[in-house]
Amino acid sequence: MTIEKIAIVGAGTMGRGVAQVALVTGLTVALTDVSSDAVTEAQRHVTRALDRLVERERLGADDRDAAMSRFSTGASLAGVENADLVIEAASENPQIKLKIFAELHEAAREDAILASNTSSISLTEIAASSGRSDKVIGMHFFNPAPVMALVEIIRALQTSDETYRSVFELTGRMGKTPVTVKDSPGFVVNRMLVPMINEAVFVLAEGVASADDIDAAMRSGANHPMGPLALADLIGLDICLSVMEVLFNEFADSKYRPCPLLKKMVDAGYLGRKSGRGFFSYA
Ligand code: NAD
Repeated sequence: MTIEKIAIVGAGTMGRGVAQVALVTGLTVALTDVSSDAVTEAQRHVTRALDRLVERERLGADDRDAAMSRFSTGASLAGVENADLVIEAASENPQIKLKIFAELHEAAREDAILASNTSSISLTEIAASSGRSDKVIGMHFFNPAPVMALVEIIRALQTSDETYRSVFELTGRMGKTPVTVKDSPGFVVNRMLVPMINEAVFVLAEGVASADDIDAAMRSGANHPMGPLALADLIGLDICLSVMEVLFNEFADSKYRPCPLLKKMVDAGYLGRKSGRGFFSYA
């Protein structure tokens, strides 16, 4: 199937970023969220992002107007019924995602592909609960979606070759680099990246170095463009914690134990950039 119309469920950091990429690619996009505030904020964010592309002469004003005319937003699952592909980008919570996939099976066209942007939850489990397991796949975009090239394409045990081919082709069309990954906790990147972030939180909690120094050390000593704690703030501390919990529970291996300080930060509502405070302040 050649995918032209997509719906995105979840209009947070990732949903709105993927919406922007899809609009610039020429796709028709319906973006939905249970929170009307999130929808309003996403609409504002995408509009501003496309305007900035025009100012920087990376997008023509006509193309921006055409993209905006293909963009709709709404509450609940508005627009899902027309989509060739639905990308779920809601909160990283298995109960929420399984419920959304059950609802999508009722609301989406029979032949529509259902993708999840989950960072860590089993696609095989999501597929099993979806009512159309051969048409379920993982499309794991990275943050910020308009900037990061990689999309991990995760095949559930049940994903058909046709579903895989359609999504792989679309990912290339969106200007992204697809990497095919088996369904395994944390996939490739998060299995390595988030334990490194978790270790940085242990280093901070043990008082080995300050947050600034931990990040400076990894920037200058490991040549990372961004320190692990600033990256945690960008990803969202709640997302980092839930990835660690999935790795810990699924592998039943103590090397993935979430750092208690990470949990405390999440309990305090210090989620990183999106809440204005994480390991650093974003006043
Ligand atoms: P976020 O908290 O910014 O946004 C999540 C959105 O989902 C919220 O607006 C919330 O209102 C909405 N939502 C919750 N329940 C819903 C429902 N039933 N129906 C529709 N919308 C619902 O989270 P995010 O960072 O955008 O993450 C979204 C997904 O993308 C998660 O699965 C996460 O693991 C994954 N992801 C995140 C990153 C990252 O760096 N933030 C990177 C790659 C993948």
